[in-house]
Amino acid sequence: KDSGVAGDGPQPRKLQSASVIGAGIMGSGIAAANLKRGLAVKLNDANAEALQRGASAILDEVSFDKATRSKSVERAIEYAGRLRSTTNSAELLDSDIIIEAVVENLELKRKIFAGLEENLPETTILASNTSTLPITKLAENLKHPERFVGIHFFNPVRKMKLVEVIRGEKTSDETAATAVAYAKGLGKFPIVVNDGPGFLVNRLLFPYMNEATQLLQDGVDMKRIDKVAVKFGMPMGPIALYDMVGIDTSFYAGRTMYDAFPDRTLVSPILPALIKNERLGTKKGYGFYNHE
Ligand code: NAD
Repeated sequence: KDSGVAGDGPQPRKLQSASVIGAGIMGSGIAAANLKRGLAVKLNDANAEALQRGASAILDEVSFDKATRSKSVERAIEYAGRLRSTTNSAELLDSDIIIEAVVENLELKRKIFAGLEENLPETTILASNTSTLPITKLAENLKHPERFVGIHFFNPVRKMKLVEVIRGEKTSDETAATAVAYAKGLGKFPIVVNDGPGFLVNRLLFPYMNEATQLLQDGVDMKRIDKVAVKFGMPMGPIALYDMVGIDTSFYAGRTMYDAFPDRTLVSPILPALIKNERLGTKKGYGFYNHE
């Protein structure tokens, strides 16, 4: 019963193929997790360069053999046979599940789902990897909101076991059960959580991260903040985490949280200043820290 879905309820369906929309940090991590567990994977990005980068990051990840602690080209080639990269989202329609992992923007995500739904078989599961946007809100204009669900992976996907499965108001029991079984099949630990801005983890994490920017504004050195957090027991400090998540993604997600909880959120001008200077974090080589 760890999943929160009753054992005698609807039976989950077994998924054999997955499409991932958005080949950035999360999309490529999710695609790699699917490949490693034997699913056929299609990777889509609107930007051809991002798609190429994402696909090579995936092959680099799957080519690593844990047992020998080395990478092998043969392994990468073997996996490449099950990975298809495409900028054409019409090619994704025959997958058992489509997971969206594009930038954190409600309108863009809604537009993508509406476009897909026009020709999608009713049984295909549609999922979003959004970090903060309520699933019910994302599903508002869908023809079939019952097959829509939040499947929130954490960064880096290869390391993080936890997955939040978020039910929107209209998500069916079968869809939720299938999402839970699917996440377990990827070797993850799914928990079913209530819908709402930031779900469970980001509702907790956001105030912590936000407070770190307030400390910066109070003049505390960022390395000191990170060092103290690590000494406390965190796997990494909040400033380093901003860089790993992406400064732009953190800012967009923060905006959802601010809109939802304005009475308890102090807005810092630091993230917009970094974005203006194209310092988007580890993915671009430079965020708070220089990663080059
Ligand atoms: P990212 O910036 O690394 O990648 C986003 C990708 O989406 C880019 O490659 C971009 O070209 C692509 N894209 C934009 N518009 C598109 C479209 N119309 N069609 C197809 N592709 C499009 O972002 P990310 O960090 O991978 O985040 C993706 C999603 O995952 C967001 O919703 C974010 O909130 C969520 N998320 C992020 C993290 C994290 O730590 N970064 C963790 C959990 C969830």
